[in-house]
Amino acid sequence: MEGVSEVLMNIILLGAPGAGKGTQAIKIAKAYGLQHISTGDMLRAEMAKGTELGRRAQGYMQSGQLVPDDLIIAMIMERFDGLGQKGMLLDGFPRTVAQAEALDKRAKVDAVINLTVPEDVIMTRICGRRVCPACGGTYHISRDDPKICRACGGELVQRPDDNPETVKKRLDTYLSQTAPLVDYYAARGILHSVDGSISIEYGFMKISAILEKLKNR
Ligand code: ADP
Ligand code: ZN
Repeated sequence: MEGVSEVLMNIILLGAPGAGKGTQAIKIAKAYGLQHISTGDMLRAEMAKGTELGRRAQGYMQSGQLVPDDLIIAMIMERFDGLGQKGMLLDGFPRTVAQAEALDKRAKVDAVINLTVPEDVIMTRICGRRVCPACGGTYHISRDDPKICRACGGELVQRPDDNPETVKKRLDTYLSQTAPLVDYYAARGILHSVDGSISIEYGFMKISAILEKLKNR
């Protein structure tokens, strides 16, 4: 496969909602042959299938709260069971210290990429975001076609939790429950912060530089 340099690292993408985790995750997973695991996408798939887990998660997601740790941890551990020999790119997990501790018991984390973005940028980004339910692609009405997915031709939709009130709540949730993970991983010496407010290309370039360094270590 041309352009793909497979790595066996486990990498976490951390950052507030709208920091660009999903967009970067797709690019990084492709470039480094990593398994992209997004708990948000997994939960939305459960909801679409109408499973018990999907039904239980729905209310939390639509009000901008976190789905309880026990549900998330059970879901992700089951996903890990089905993985082959491939590095993982975790997008949206862990989101609490309890989730990080559960992960530590299960897998070695090689690097944590923390995408930083100011709050006003987050609002504009999320409220103009459109997503492709078919392939997980993320777009923005300011620069992309608002209706059709460039990657797979699927029809784009706006997520029900991408409205100003819910975004405000998601940001509060992030600050109180997820932001402590920045210190958690900094203390382990594996945190790398990247400015996520400049452009997708700039962010990707910075992340690639970090991963290349780790790969050659
Ligand atoms: P964003 O990062 O833009 O908020 P996600 O798709 O990652 O979007 O998450 C959407 C919602 O799914 C969250 O607001 C939360 O309710 C739920 N969720 C996703 N991942 C987790 C997790 N690891 N722990 C708890 N809830 C989660
Ligand atoms: Zn698509």
